[in-house]
Amino acid sequence: MLRLAIFVSAFIFSIATTAIAAPKNIILLIGDGMGEAEIAIARAYEFDGDDGMFLDTMKNMGSVIVKQYMADDPTKIQFAGSSGAGASTISTGYRTSDGRIAVNAIDGTPYKTILEEARERGFKTGLVSTARIADATPAAFAAHTRNRYCYVYGMEECKEFPADRPSVAQMIGNNVDVMLGGGQEFLAAVEADGETIREKAEDNGYTVITTREELLNLEPGTKTYGLFSPGHLPVEWVGPGSRGADFVPADDRRVVYYPQSARCEVNPDHAGIPTIEEMSQFAIDSLKDADNGFFLMIEGASIDKQAHEAKPCGTIGEMLAFDRTARMAVEFAKEQGDTAVIVTADHGGSTQVIYRPDSYGQTLSREYIPGLYQALLSKGGHTINAYYGTSHLDEQSHTGVNVPIFTYGLDNPDALRGTIQQTEIYPVMKDFLFN
Ligand SMILES: [Zn+2]
Repeated sequence: MLRLAIFVSAFIFSIATTAIAAPKNIILLIGDGMGEAEIAIARAYEFDGDDGMFLDTMKNMGSVIVKQYMADDPTKIQFAGSSGAGASTISTGYRTSDGRIAVNAIDGTPYKTILEEARERGFKTGLVSTARIADATPAAFAAHTRNRYCYVYGMEECKEFPADRPSVAQMIGNNVDVMLGGGQEFLAAVEADGETIREKAEDNGYTVITTREELLNLEPGTKTYGLFSPGHLPVEWVGPGSRGADFVPADDRRVVYYPQSARCEVNPDHAGIPTIEEMSQFAIDSLKDADNGFFLMIEGASIDKQAHEAKPCGTIGEMLAFDRTARMAVEFAKEQGDTAVIVTADHGGSTQVIYRPDSYGQTLSREYIPGLYQALLSKGGHTINAYYGTSHLDEQSHTGVNVPIFTYGLDNPDALRGTIQQTEIYPVMKDFLFN
């Protein structure tokens, strides 16, 4: 009888421990350059500022203070963030400087990332981006380098720190289960050992794919290296007549003429490219049956890249696709359980929605609107005044605003509510996955 009791209690104990060790998953979505202004312009265009954005329904929300170290003097602070430094802070809990990928700003010492630790503990891992898959944000989860542009062996950008291995081969060597994005241009690159990137991926067990058809027909769970365009993926939308923001034309008295507001257009170059939702769906389907859980990072990269080029429609199209992907991730998390979804940004961008420039009831001279401007017509027929004023060129700057963070499914959502530092995200992810 006693032996039976011991047997029964051991059996119950084993059920209890199995329940405690249930797989935990994190889907981290990073909208690159997704400040509140980038969300606001998408909300204004598509929903006239009303309900409709999925992110607006996520009630666990905080505001993230962004800062990093100066690249040339890491003892000094830069009060506007960048992608490499911001993603490194999210992936490791440490701040660093512009261009650094998961390394110390001063001496280049690598910091272990949340993805690397998850993999070591038997979790499956994935990276999805609409940029090159070795662009700063995804690289900051699976590579360590002092120059984010040192992608493959022999590049000029690799000469500054010859001891650092190029990022593309590092990411492949890190055995991330699924990597989907752009960057076919590096497949034929030859590394120091004479192997091409494609050979390295295949030697590491990856199925290398380059088209949307291959992605949609591939069995989820396949270890996949999917690159769907030479560089960054083409964006979903372009501006009216493919134009972005520009100087408002003025007469010889410098009185400006306002352009008619117009609608965004679908980018024909995006045809045949997998959407961020399709890539994310494949990644989730590939990782969801992992015995120990998974860590997946999904980046909406061109919210930022289009803001750099003063192209509000580009940003809006990418923002809406990113928002749909966040919805998909939360729907998966609700169904699956034990899954946290964290949506945030690395830094703010240059987008501004401004007051209607002719609302002052006076003749407007160029001095009132010196930057790049575009009038867009919202779905409901209202004019949105998109403006870029950080530069007179189409190379706009990041801005030092706080960025939002939205969470679903955390054990302790209060940890990422209110105003937080960007360094606080990593320990929350670590605690959720491993404790
Ligand atoms: Zn940027």
